Amino acid sequence: MARRFSPWNLVDRNASLEGQLSLTDLPQLQDVALSLQELEYQIAGLKDPFGTPALSIVIKGKLQISCERCIQGMSFTVDCNSDLAIKTPVQAATRSGEHELTDDCDVLIVERDEKLDAFDLLQDEILLALPLVAAHSNIEDCGEKVVSVLAPLPALEEKAQTSDAAEQTNKPFADLANLLGKAD
Ligand SMILES: [Zn+2]
Repeated sequence: MARRFSPWNLVDRNASLEGQLSLTDLPQLQDVALSLQELEYQIAGLKDPFGTPALSIVIKGKLQISCERCIQGMSFTVDCNSDLAIKTPVQAATRSGEHELTDDCDVLIVERDEKLDAFDLLQDEILLALPLVAAHSNIEDCGEKVVSVLAPLPALEEKAQTSDAAEQTNKPFADLANLLGKAD
């Protein structure tokens, strides 16, 4: 799809843009996210029940972000669902005739012939959805990962014990054989 789109055109046509995002589409997110899986979006142009033009933005998927406590990756579910009312600069300046509900909504001010970058818009929404401090919600999730990194692998540990035991049982016999040989 084309990255750049006209919000007013989308509303007029009652159309929507859909697709999948990759980390290269979202340069600002590269500072926080380690990787992302299946991040899907939809930007739909519509009019709310009051006839106000709006963009409905839905982003769903999963990001790997790094936990600030244990520096391990943690999965973060993105589930954005926000409506942005759109207005021309003239409409935004004229406050008469506005109904109260739009005052509570986020408003995007766009000229009639202006095009926006879809990925920039989506990136802003994702950044807003990220936690202020990224950390495993349960501290035990951090501890478990640290322990599993430090502990030796069970297979290696078992093998080491077996070879130690074998050496210990073999040596006395070898010594005994030597002694017996010398005694004869
Ligand atoms: Zn952690």
